Amino acid sequence: MKKLQRPEFAYMQGKLVPWDEAVIHVGCEAVSRGVNVFEGIKGYWQVNGRFGIVFLQKHYERLLRSAKLLHIPIQFTYQEFETAIFELLGSLLTREKDMWIRTTVLAIEGYWGEGTKADLVLTAYHQEKEEPEPINLGISTWLRSNDSSLPARIKTSTNYQVSRLARIEGRAQNFQDMVLLNQWGRVAESTGSCILMVRNGVIYSPPAYEGALESITLDFVEDLAKSLNLKFIRRPIDRTELLIADEIAICGTLSELVPIQMIGSNPIDPFGPLLTKIREKFFKVVRGEETESFFDVTYVPESKIISH
Ligand code: PMP
Repeated sequence: MKKLQRPEFAYMQGKLVPWDEAVIHVGCEAVSRGVNVFEGIKGYWQVNGRFGIVFLQKHYERLLRSAKLLHIPIQFTYQEFETAIFELLGSLLTREKDMWIRTTVLAIEGYWGEGTKADLVLTAYHQEKEEPEPINLGISTWLRSNDSSLPARIKTSTNYQVSRLARIEGRAQNFQDMVLLNQWGRVAESTGSCILMVRNGVIYSPPAYEGALESITLDFVEDLAKSLNLKFIRRPIDRTELLIADEIAICGTLSELVPIQMIGSNPIDPFGPLLTKIREKFFKVVRGEETESFFDVTYVPESKIISH
């Protein structure tokens, strides 16, 4: 069983706080109705020796879009967001590990959307510098909620109730992750990543209107594919197409690019040529071994890093 890390510090109410003191009141809307929006952001040690946060501006922009849809006022600028992240990372970074940063905006005041006040809360967790191993991907009986109920476009923790149910379902059947189908029975995404499928030499992924998050990694993968002269198309994907695909991978900030070796009860080659090519380039670019104009990295200033 995986245990949640307990890093030394979290960040809330504008400052670093010891992990055990990072608490909120049981009566607030963030607790009673799960009112929040969040981002999961990745940082990698770069070949130039600096620590780089990937696509930070894009994560901030998506956080604002999610907050707008849930009517959560955002009181901080991009600069303040960046500075807060630098402060937390600076206190937690070690040379041996990359980091995954969760930036959450919690509704700490307000009632049914009136008088909402929110706080930016940051936590960051150490990550091994290893590339992901192939996994088994099941197809869940739970469906991605639709755009008229809890839109996939909003990155809020309440959207992950379905993901949690699907993971519990999958665990009992030896699947490490599960595909969520949409209300039309087509592929939406997995519990925390987007789906990539190869058929006849073309890479496909479902568009956001099929019930997928507007993924930052997927946009990056599309750019990587194009830079390698591979054809990448967004279009709806039937469940049966996935079952007979030539190659499958899932992608996301945390999952990165995970090869799939089993889809439902069908084995599939996890190291097919197209997605392997993309994966190899992916890890070179995120670590700064190769540069690309479409890639964006924000360095944590050396002066902020308190070495552990
Ligand atoms: N779908 C879901 C449900 C996710 O949680 C994530 C991870 N944020 C993704 C897709 C991939 O999005 P991104 O590439 O922006 O991390």
